[in-house]
Amino acid sequence: MKPASAAEVGLTYSYFSPNFQFMNQTIIKNSIRKIAEDHGALLGVCRIDDDLRRVFHFEIQKIAEKMTHAISIGMPLSKSVMDTLIDHPNMLYKAHYRQVNAVLDDTALAISSEIERNGHRALPIPASMVLKRHPMIGHLSHREVAFRAGLGWWGKNNLLVNRKYGSKIRLVTVLTDSELEPDEISTENCGDCRACLKACPVGAISDDKDLFSLEACSAQVQKFARENDYGMYICGLCLKACPGKK
Ligand code: SF4
Ligand code: SF4
Repeated sequence: MKPASAAEVGLTYSYFSPNFQFMNQTIIKNSIRKIAEDHGALLGVCRIDDDLRRVFHFEIQKIAEKMTHAISIGMPLSKSVMDTLIDHPNMLYKAHYRQVNAVLDDTALAISSEIERNGHRALPIPASMVLKRHPMIGHLSHREVAFRAGLGWWGKNNLLVNRKYGSKIRLVTVLTDSELEPDEISTENCGDCRACLKACPVGAISDDKDLFSLEACSAQVQKFARENDYGMYICGLCLKACPGKK
């Protein structure tokens, strides 16, 4: 018989009791999905295979040996904020970018706590922690996890593209040893859309996504940061242009 969801048994993440330590994986997944939804975010799950594990930063490699699954959480950006971008980033976008990252980190923490309350390990990976700038390196690729967890496909702009939100979505990851059911990988792609090619000021994006120029993109975001004293590398123009599949 199919196990009851957290909602069906009248529970929410905020008042699970220790009596539910051994709730099964389906209920845990329903519960953490609800936490994500309560924060306005999407959630997907994938298994951690050797290819994914290989690119984990050394800071998390040891603890990640215990982890079998990765949870991707995606938070949509405000369309209205994105609409203020014309041909360069601005302070409103910078503030919004930080705000969304903070909410993502809060969401990852709440989900990690829920998993740990149910007797499993959970490791939240910060949404936007840059460990090295040239080339840009974090603890892992949130985009790769999100792709494997079914939140979208790899776009021509080298970002995740979600069907509903396009690339206007930011990501965070939680690693866990909880054997959650993985989600389906998206089989969609950009098709003949070229919106981001037209939006990029330096021609970093090509029709062939494998020809994306990281060098050209990176040089441009550094230029924006220098010219405007943002203190962080942001652009946003190809995100704004990306429609997803509307
Ligand atoms: S982030 Fe900016 S510079 Fe980089 S590919 Fe997108 S539009 Fe071009
Ligand atoms: S704007 Fe179009 S081509 Fe570019 S990443 Fe989005 S869907 Fe793909």
